[in-house]
Amino acid sequence: MTATTTTTGPEPSASPGLSKPVGDPPLLEVRNLTVTYGGTVPAVRGVDLRVEAGQKLGIAGESGCGKSTLALALLRLLPAAAKLTGEILLDGEDVLTMKWGRLRAVRWAGASIVFQGAMHSLNAVHRVGDQIAEPILLHNAKATPGGARRRAGELLEQVGLPAARAQAYPHELSGGQRQRVMIAMALACDPRLIVADEPTTALDVMIQAQILRLIEQLVADQDVGLIMISHDLAVLADTCDRLSVMYAGRVVEEGPARQVYAEARHPYGRALSAAFPRIGDPASRRAPRGLPGDPPDPAALPGGCTFHPRCPVALDSCATEDQELREAGGERRAACVLVDAPAADDSRSTS
Ligand code: ADP
Ligand code: MG
Repeated sequence: MTATTTTTGPEPSASPGLSKPVGDPPLLEVRNLTVTYGGTVPAVRGVDLRVEAGQKLGIAGESGCGKSTLALALLRLLPAAAKLTGEILLDGEDVLTMKWGRLRAVRWAGASIVFQGAMHSLNAVHRVGDQIAEPILLHNAKATPGGARRRAGELLEQVGLPAARAQAYPHELSGGQRQRVMIAMALACDPRLIVADEPTTALDVMIQAQILRLIEQLVADQDVGLIMISHDLAVLADTCDRLSVMYAGRVVEEGPARQVYAEARHPYGRALSAAFPRIGDPASRRAPRGLPGDPPDPAALPGGCTFHPRCPVALDSCATEDQELREAGGERRAACVLVDAPAADDSRSTS
């Protein structure tokens, strides 16, 4: 069952003017987005992204690379100490300059977020059905409590849980069931864009696969756009159409998901691919092969290419020369000086 075929509840909140005819701007276009915490911590540095309706964009990177900061920035959910510059165009309308009332309308209904760690994101003292009903009531003046509760039940069924589970409290559900509730909540107002920040990280591999298939199915049924964030490149390659790899607050590689996973052109992309086997691969999770250390603290970024201290193939010039994204073959773009030296790079990229 999909949201477009459910009829018993109140109409989900009307799109707040976000539906536009074909030929108009992409669903989401992020231009040169920067986020700086407290004036000194540049957690996101000049990111460009684009997502069309029905498209699934994966954002990969180790912990601390700025992925959650980017996700929260999309709906201006960051603390006041975070300063944002650039543009976040949702159907052509800049989220960064929206008035508060408009922003409230866009949250949930224009775009919604499935957060990392469902246990902490759900309210422990309220039944999950009431928590799903809440955004429906908030966003639709005509919704009644009874209608919103019925709709919550339908949404639970849509994500593979019996409607009766609406009566449960979060602690009565398993981790996978809680994550399904989070997804039902994200769907409650028929958003056009869903942002899923590490939606399966806390789950075991079998449940993880089920949740990923569920998200894929919902995106296909409802023609929404999806941004899926994970440190696990294999998960993203399985689920998404396109991939952006983030390092130290920047996109350092982007392109079709399978190409980036199979033959990344940036040494960081290659290290991430090597670190994560595909779901179902008997090999267990392992630390990034040949990639010691951690991403840099954004408050103390190294000069030159920020990846150079960990890069297995760095040149002397990488310590002083920063690199922009550039064409890297096969629709990929990568921010690495070696992309311009195909002969030398090819010998390393095939393994
Ligand atoms: P990821 O989701 O990729 O793990 P985050 O966006 O959570 O990365 O964090 C990126 C960087 O921003 C980290 O160095 C983190 O310490 C810093 N950071 C995150 N939130 C805050 C905050 N509220 N104040 C200051 N720094 C923060
Ligand atoms: Mg995160």
